Amino acid sequence: MPLSLAPSNPEVRAFEATVTSVDERSVVLDETYFYPEGGGQPADRGVLGGVELAHVYAEDGVVVHELAETPDFDVGDDVTGVVDDDYRTYCMRAHTASHVLYGAARHIFDDLGYGGFDITEEKVRVDFETSTDVDDAALVELERLVNRAVWDSREVSWEEIPVAEARERDEIAFNVKTETGVFADADEVRVVTVDGWDWGACGGTHVSNTIEIGPVEVLGRSNPGEGLTRVELAVGPSAIDHRAELQTAAYDAARALGTNLEALGDVAAETVESRAALEDELADLKAETLATRLANFETLERDGGTWKVGSVAGFEANDVGEAAKDARGEADVLVAVGDSNAPFVVVASAGDVSAGDIVGDVTDEFGGSGGGGPTFAQGGGLGTTADEVLAFLHEY
Ligand SMILES: [Zn+2]
Repeated sequence: MPLSLAPSNPEVRAFEATVTSVDERSVVLDETYFYPEGGGQPADRGVLGGVELAHVYAEDGVVVHELAETPDFDVGDDVTGVVDDDYRTYCMRAHTASHVLYGAARHIFDDLGYGGFDITEEKVRVDFETSTDVDDAALVELERLVNRAVWDSREVSWEEIPVAEARERDEIAFNVKTETGVFADADEVRVVTVDGWDWGACGGTHVSNTIEIGPVEVLGRSNPGEGLTRVELAVGPSAIDHRAELQTAAYDAARALGTNLEALGDVAAETVESRAALEDELADLKAETLATRLANFETLERDGGTWKVGSVAGFEANDVGEAAKDARGEADVLVAVGDSNAPFVVVASAGDVSAGDIVGDVTDEFGGSGGGGPTFAQGGGLGTTADEVLAFLHEY
């Protein structure tokens, strides 16, 4: 006898059975329609003999019903089991959706093997063994094919066939490692068929027609391991909610860009392109402005040499540094004081007067840190205002 009658009678939601063993909260029945966790499908929820189920699992060839509390029934009693309809129905739909997804992958993947699957309340994940690069276009096509197969109302059926026969049928997807209940006994394997679409060795519960699955949304992909591609999808309410979130995000983006959904991709690409061009243009203009400001610095006679001293605001120290080297021109020294977060000082020198020494004197006076060589140095984090630094340099 199979472990659980749920896979072969997935529509049953209430049944009578006789208790064959009670060990505190763990109960075994002569037969059960509860699905024990296995093969990626979670355990059923429900009530047994008036007590809520905490877990259902298979162990040593029997289904163990672990109850939320110790029952008052005993061995030999007849009890009623009630399978949580919402949860089981969701699991059947989600589970069958994974078969339909695998069938869709058969259409677009170059090579394909089964790598496992898992159902949670929010999503279903299916792992594929494939060398195909599952890009955005492939995800879109998978979702389209899955929903198309749902709409086409394909019959879903299951049968037990000899293992040898199943092994000879190349179209049957196997994952014997993780699928408990697939092999009903040593000689037979349970094969679930989505008519004309997918064939998989599987011991779970399924709907009998793909139309029952309802809306499916592909959520994304990832790579859980070498040669594996994981595709996640949502089924039913979570698919509907996900769709609404995507729609909202797309409408928000289109509105922000002043366009409609159809043109969104092109307009977004154009916007990114034109922003890059504007950034280049802005950088050129800023460099030009900086060069002009540095060129217009006050000229001071100092120790028989010519110094250019002044301040620039709104520029980064590194930009000012590069520009200062060019802007020194015929002058012996150029000192620029800037103010980005804290005041900074940049010195370009012909080398007779050490740029590093000037920066050292400024940081000795005002704090902060800096460094450099004879021809170029900079200091930052000065503990004063740009004007004070400028005044200091005039008195220097
Ligand atoms: Zn299945």
